[in-house]
Amino acid sequence: MDRKSLSIALAGNPNSGKTTIFNNITGTRQKVGNWPGVTVEKKEGTVKKFGYDFKIVDLPGTYSLTPFSIEEIVARNYVIDERPDVVIDIIDASNLERSLYLATQLREIDCRVLFALNMADVANARGIKIDGKKLSELLEVPVVFTIGNKNEGIDTLLKSAIDLAESNYTVTKERKVKYNKDIENSISKLQLYLENRIEDSVPSNFRWTAIKLIEDDKIVKERIVQKTGEKSQGILQEVKVQRDLLTSRFDDDPEIVMTEERYGFIAGIIKEVLTTSTKQRVDISRNIDLVLTNRFIGFPIFVLFIWAMFQLTFSLGAYPMEWIESSIGFISMNLGRTLPDNLFKDLLLDGIIAGVGSVAVFLPNILILFFCIALFEDTGYMSRAAFLMDKIMHIIGLHGKSFIPMLMGFGCNVPAIMATRTLESDKDRKLTILITPFMSCSAKLPVYIVLAGTFFGGKAGTVIFSIYMLGIVLSIITGRIFRSTLFKGADAPFVMELPPYRVPMIKSLLIHMWDRSKIFLKKMGGIILVASILIWALSTFPLNIKYQTDYDAEINKVNAYYRSKISTAIDSGKTNFEQQRDDMILKITRKKKAEKAEKSLMGRIGKAFAPIFSPLGIDWRGSVALLSGFAAKEIVVSTLGVLYATDREQDSEALKHALLSSSMTSLSALAMMAFVLLYVPCLATVAVIKRETGSLKWTVFSIAYSTLIAWLAAFCIYQGGGLLGFS
Ligand code: GDP
Ligand code: MG
Repeated sequence: MDRKSLSIALAGNPNSGKTTIFNNITGTRQKVGNWPGVTVEKKEGTVKKFGYDFKIVDLPGTYSLTPFSIEEIVARNYVIDERPDVVIDIIDASNLERSLYLATQLREIDCRVLFALNMADVANARGIKIDGKKLSELLEVPVVFTIGNKNEGIDTLLKSAIDLAESNYTVTKERKVKYNKDIENSISKLQLYLENRIEDSVPSNFRWTAIKLIEDDKIVKERIVQKTGEKSQGILQEVKVQRDLLTSRFDDDPEIVMTEERYGFIAGIIKEVLTTSTKQRVDISRNIDLVLTNRFIGFPIFVLFIWAMFQLTFSLGAYPMEWIESSIGFISMNLGRTLPDNLFKDLLLDGIIAGVGSVAVFLPNILILFFCIALFEDTGYMSRAAFLMDKIMHIIGLHGKSFIPMLMGFGCNVPAIMATRTLESDKDRKLTILITPFMSCSAKLPVYIVLAGTFFGGKAGTVIFSIYMLGIVLSIITGRIFRSTLFKGADAPFVMELPPYRVPMIKSLLIHMWDRSKIFLKKMGGIILVASILIWALSTFPLNIKYQTDYDAEINKVNAYYRSKISTAIDSGKTNFEQQRDDMILKITRKKKAEKAEKSLMGRIGKAFAPIFSPLGIDWRGSVALLSGFAAKEIVVSTLGVLYATDREQDSEALKHALLSSSMTSLSALAMMAFVLLYVPCLATVAVIKRETGSLKWTVFSIAYSTLIAWLAAFCIYQGGGLLGFS
């Protein structure tokens, strides 16, 4: 017997359990989240069962199929264009009323739809009883009860899907979802008009197309224009006639009237099929929310959680960080001793190990940070955080949901920008992507630590905090400006979802954490490796440099001078002289290295760019460091290390001394920190911005404006501070 193939699309509200059921059927590992709308990408899986080859698609979670949000457009286009054999609408049985809006919309498309009443356990526990048979009769749709997380009812669901696909399904003349007489009149007139002018309807059947045109659906209108060319003028004219007619009749837009009618229809269904027992279980979630989203203490609790998260990230992370640091030190020390001195050894130690090591030390912090974020998401707290931040985010003209990507930006911009997928509106998403890089990511911290630590001593903490604040303030200001210029217009209305609290599964937390950290490691690791090799090469070549002074001869002189002194000195005098000798030799070696760096390719590049940076008080070394920071921000510090010719062991004291004796002042250090905070995000982030906006234009824009703002801010700090008499 040959196998038949069957394509199934899973539709449903966010958090209805789509992904869970998708995983049950396909066995593919996937993220099981708790934050509404996590599934934005289309996920496909295949499975062989009951003699069929199933192709399953997990559609984005939506409440409706309006053309306002990307998720809804994606889901709708899939159903219309790909024509899956069966669409399974996963309905949260404990929230039937809310789920039915999407259900009626799917019903209207005339695809073969099947209802899975999922979360049957939750509904039961709350004393909610649904008459599945009645529901099935009323809407003429097969209904199956399921419990996704226990894999109950899934086989029945698949069998029903097969039955439905094999049945000789015809579009019923007797409409299940109906409107009032006036609207029905307009629909049939328009439908007839369409049937007479075009052979086959776009994008879906004639009735649906007519309904959408009356609702002024912009995507359907576009498609009509594309498909019918010149004829579309007449069609759109007829649509206008019908819309005007209805508008004057109802004194309101037809789409509003139709939405109201659908809700009325749903209320009717609910009355018929739903009974709630009086002994409703006390809703635990609601009680927790009384505290966590409380008007007065909700916000302080939220701040406390965030504070605890950063505290945990940095203080707990410090221990493994130290272990990694010392193991890398140990490895490179031993390799340094055993390998013969040659170019390859330099490349391995100064290029590869030093560069990649600088990423590896951040791994513990990243893991902890992402674990905390996963914990927030999986328990359901993240949505509460969004809820709490909603008012504040409205200053920028964004919803509270945008706060989550921005918060994650403090860890790493790469996953943060990926998290913007959870936003419904395209405008919100782009705007959030543009301002998120101003959240100072953890890779920039080492730069601040070195510069602030060197030039501000005891006030370093306050200075670093101010830099973080500068980022936040600028993101608010630019967000506000973009909102009123580039991203004008009303955004899609949306309901802030507060899913029930859940005890997270440790496995899901770990997968969650690892998925994000993996991306970070892969991207950063690869890019950093290449960049460190490149920077090493640029600072190493050309090899034969003509030095101004013969440093080797000087070293010999010093050696000779002290040799006699040491031989005649006694006891402590001996060690004293030895100390002096070593210090002098170190100074000479540093000078040599510095001259080498200056005359290397990198030095030449830095000097070419120096005029751009000199108004900011940054010299050619700083310029090179900043340029190299485009690869990854951590590299700024190691480049400074190379250029100020400190030694191979990452000696922060030496770098401090070198910086203090350079032309840098505390003012220029501050300017440089501001520049690092604001300028073009790292390569990995740029790549993600490109992927998530899907547009080169926005990517270039993001790079250009952030760098411009960085330059202006640094300029104001350096020149302004100078005018005020600081140095
Ligand atoms: P999606 O947003 O529709 O993809 O929803 P998910 O599949 O991510 O599920 C959201 C949450 O509901 C997860 O924590 C699941 O473990 C949980 N879940 C899924 N199905 C059921 C169910 O039938 N009963 C209960 N109690 N929880 C479920
Ligand atoms: Mg999902």
